[in-house]
Amino acid sequence: MQKETFRGVVLYPSDIRSLGADKLIHILKKADINLIGIHSNTLTENLDSLKIYLESADGRLLIDLCKENNIDVEYECHVLQEILPRSLFNEHPEYFRVDSNGVRTNDLNICFSSEEAWITIEKNVTELVTWMKPTTNRYFFWIDDSYDGFCNCDKCKPFSPSDQALIYENRMLEIIRRVNPDATLAHLAYASTLDAPKTVKPEEGIFLEFAPIGRNYENPLPSEQYNALKTNLEIFPKETAHILEYWLDASMFSGWNRDTWNKIPWDTNFCKRDIELYRDLGIESFTTFATWMFHQRYFELYGQDEAIEVAREYGSILKREK
Ligand SMILES: [Zn+2]
Repeated sequence: MQKETFRGVVLYPSDIRSLGADKLIHILKKADINLIGIHSNTLTENLDSLKIYLESADGRLLIDLCKENNIDVEYECHVLQEILPRSLFNEHPEYFRVDSNGVRTNDLNICFSSEEAWITIEKNVTELVTWMKPTTNRYFFWIDDSYDGFCNCDKCKPFSPSDQALIYENRMLEIIRRVNPDATLAHLAYASTLDAPKTVKPEEGIFLEFAPIGRNYENPLPSEQYNALKTNLEIFPKETAHILEYWLDASMFSGWNRDTWNKIPWDTNFCKRDIELYRDLGIESFTTFATWMFHQRYFELYGQDEAIEVAREYGSILKREK
């Protein structure tokens, strides 16, 4: 049996709310998109706002309509600040990282070697997975969004950022699997975790998620990112590797500034070129941020028909002929 190709978009709850589930599903069907990833990031839309959306009438309708239309639903979330609250720092500074100046701080991430921190994390994750149920069984519980956010304590220091992330992901998968034995979990290769881990090995069920942020789409994937992807594919299975791109990410192309709300620099040929490159490496699972683009405001600024046409082109590039 041929493995199914994922053709996804990643959206904020606020994007979905602005369109409403009915209209969104209509657009996805038209564009042949078969996966929605709902995004939370703690800072602008947190896990609570995601949960509130899912429990609303529109959120329930979305889940029902996705099921009816064979559209998978996943949750791509920065969760670490919420599963290990920063307020614990006063009583338990040892849960948190030592920064590159040697100062213990609760600004980003955690001490990835702190056993005690995991007691709190486990409790919170076990609760989280009671309501967050990806239809693909793929989980995305990312660490903090940062370039220099890793731990420099004596225990963590020997490990690269990617290795520290993988220590966290291996442990996280074990916790999720106690609730959902079919679970798999993403290792996000991105920013400072772009390079492949060197010493830590992924447990079975950890899959590569490659997110080449900061590209100029006029050019092919830069060699630094391409080489990092290839090296990662020597560590993580090709069959489950997943690309998270930014082709339709109006939020990124606006510098995440809602006063800007720019038009995306879409070019079908650039996207096609990129997908061919990824497919040549054996990858069949794709999604792209489409935050602020699948949004009523974007439609008003740049035209609904044109936006839907772009989505349709994206879906048709990925819809491989059988
Ligand atoms: Zn540490």
